[in-house]
Amino acid sequence: MTNANLQARKTKVIARGQGNVYPVYVERAENSELWDVEGKRYIDFGTGIAVCNTGHSHPKVVNAVKEQLDKFSHTCVMVNPYEVAVELAEKLVEAAPGESDKKAIFVSTGAEAVENCVKIARAYTGRRGVIAFNGGFHGRTNLTMALTGKITPYKNLFGPFPGDIFHAPFPVACHDITVKESLKAIENLFKVDIAPTDVAAIIVEPVQGEGGFYAAPAEFLQALRQICDEHGIVLIADEIQTGFGRTGKMFSFEHSGVEADLMTMAKGIAGGFPIAAVVGKSDIMDAPLPGGLGGTYGGSPVACAAALAVLDVIKEENLIERSKQIGALFNERLSALKSQYPDLILDVRNQGSMIAMELIVGGDSEHANTPLTQAIIGKAAQYGLVLLACGFYGNVIRFLPALTISDELANEGLDTFTDLFKSLVDA
Ligand code: PMP
Repeated sequence: MTNANLQARKTKVIARGQGNVYPVYVERAENSELWDVEGKRYIDFGTGIAVCNTGHSHPKVVNAVKEQLDKFSHTCVMVNPYEVAVELAEKLVEAAPGESDKKAIFVSTGAEAVENCVKIARAYTGRRGVIAFNGGFHGRTNLTMALTGKITPYKNLFGPFPGDIFHAPFPVACHDITVKESLKAIENLFKVDIAPTDVAAIIVEPVQGEGGFYAAPAEFLQALRQICDEHGIVLIADEIQTGFGRTGKMFSFEHSGVEADLMTMAKGIAGGFPIAAVVGKSDIMDAPLPGGLGGTYGGSPVACAAALAVLDVIKEENLIERSKQIGALFNERLSALKSQYPDLILDVRNQGSMIAMELIVGGDSEHANTPLTQAIIGKAAQYGLVLLACGFYGNVIRFLPALTISDELANEGLDTFTDLFKSLVDA
């Protein structure tokens, strides 16, 4: 069996819309390494897009899943519930930032969690409008596409979208978009497009994920909290990519001290098992009527068992602290590369282990080096690396190592990345 053979089979039967970054077919994976069907080994700096924060096939997670599978795998939490779901909800409401009493609901994907936040906010406020941000990513369903602030490839060809969705600029210091400008744009929306009293929610990623790993300044999230308080708007934190230790806190909103009204959780929640959640203030969460929220697979007992094990591993292995150490190591190594190539590397940034390197042409911050980014991704597999790109202009390499990666493996991967980078730019 070869990768080429499998890719040929895949292309015949899986539509191109569900594309794959690498024509590399995985045979097995362990912690921060993958092996493909040809026996080649890769260091994984992508973790399945910020999902396997506890590494691939963590023994504790695997055992929890096996134990649950021996008991039962599905009854539907909306028909006959089970203790693992209740216990997980107890732990998630405890882990969510802020002091307010909270409740949770379970769904299966990140996009579903976002949709449910909007449903809950609308039910609670009786209002229609939602404000999101340029460059934000919230999913691929119809409502979440409308919230997403980037056209290609997410939105073009797919309209019409639901109405009453508005976008404001997200503050990005390295592109001279200030907090003041973003806040002013929201004030303008209130003047031009929708009265604040018609706005149900503002949704924000504390660090934009697909948008380029730009962290919202604390003062920006604090100002959003103030705007929401002033006008009775629900503040939604989309922590799908930033959650579960990824940013050096359990959740990224903790960096700003702001308590959101509702938040999404997915990806890192269960080490690869499909489960997502909305957690929020109890009075808001209870606005929809019984049966108004949920779904057949939401809160799968197998995924709940995995999530409980993930929470244990984060605590037992001190992964939040480790996330900061790993982020610092990557930042140091990548900043050294930046100082050698200041005309090509605009910025190296990280919040914990959400690490990015932004590539430009000729030292011009507004000239995105998308071709170089694509060339790096295109050559990564040959070098035995799994890397992902992101960014409004597709010119950011993002590094999402497992929080269980050793310094040795991280350094090996960074040595390889350096060789790969130099092979392209020194040629
Ligand atoms: N919100 C954010 C911030 C995300 O990063 C993602 C996934 N990249 C989503 C929503 C959508 O999650 P899913 O792919 O599980 O639907």
